[in-house]
Amino acid sequence: LPAPSARQLTDADAAARLPLPDADDDKYSQGVVGVVAGSATYPGAGVLCTGAALRTRPGLVRYAGTAADGVRAAWPEAIVTDGRPGDAGRVQAWVIGPGLGTGDEARSVLAEVLATDLPVLVDADGLTLLAAEPELVRRRSAPTVLTPHDREFARFGTEPGDDRIGATRRLAADLGAVVLLKGDATVVADPDGTAFVNGTGTPWLATAGTGDVLSGIAGALLAADLPAVEAAAVAAHVHGRAGQVAAAHGPFIAGDVVRHLPEAVARVRGTP
Ligand code: AMP
Ligand code: MG
Repeated sequence: LPAPSARQLTDADAAARLPLPDADDDKYSQGVVGVVAGSATYPGAGVLCTGAALRTRPGLVRYAGTAADGVRAAWPEAIVTDGRPGDAGRVQAWVIGPGLGTGDEARSVLAEVLATDLPVLVDADGLTLLAAEPELVRRRSAPTVLTPHDREFARFGTEPGDDRIGATRRLAADLGAVVLLKGDATVVADPDGTAFVNGTGTPWLATAGTGDVLSGIAGALLAADLPAVEAAAVAAHVHGRAGQVAAAHGPFIAGDVVRHLPEAVARVRGTP
């Protein structure tokens, strides 16, 4: 049987899934995101990931990690600890991995987060650690989202190759996780075979830190209770739109993608 084809979200599809606050909401009901990213070597990854989560507008972002000073300075809205994830307070979804490092402490923090029964998004250094210990994902019962670029994908055993949709579906089924394979046409696949090909973006996104921004957006949507595959697909759509909005002003860097997120969301919603 041929595999069912992959879908492409329209702005209207994405808008229908983007949460809006209503009169009954408070900051907790809007979604609380936990971010574990950045390190003394790469504080920027923590700053970009936390900023993207904030600008996607959950109710609250909690940061736990060794880039705490940088994150605190950049984002007064975030609640920051330099302790372990367990010291951060209650969250509804975790984002872990960008700029984290791959040493023993990073491995231990990753295992702690994956041992929770919360949705978890793993990116970057977190993926390098996971590729050596995929059972940390396979034994989870809560949703997991993995966001590799091609080289990170290959660490799990196979290059993406020409059939990127098929390869992403196979890794998702093998690990029991949503896999988002980044590139000029990002692919998202659920373990059940549901797949999306992203239709937004610009090659200007090929610059340092934009992947950290994507993980923060997707983490915020996971915390807002979107099904994992939809959180990943809508995040890719909004991230690509934010890149397009930023590119309209000229060459941009990852922080500009964060700054343009509100305008990108407004465009996706069709609000002028
Ligand atoms: P990372 O490799 O983690 O830094 O993430 C890079 C981000 O930029 C991902 O969201 C990619 O999908 C996006 N990206 C990278 N190269 C391109 C490209 N040539 N065209 C469009 N998007 C790209
Ligand atoms: Mg990256």
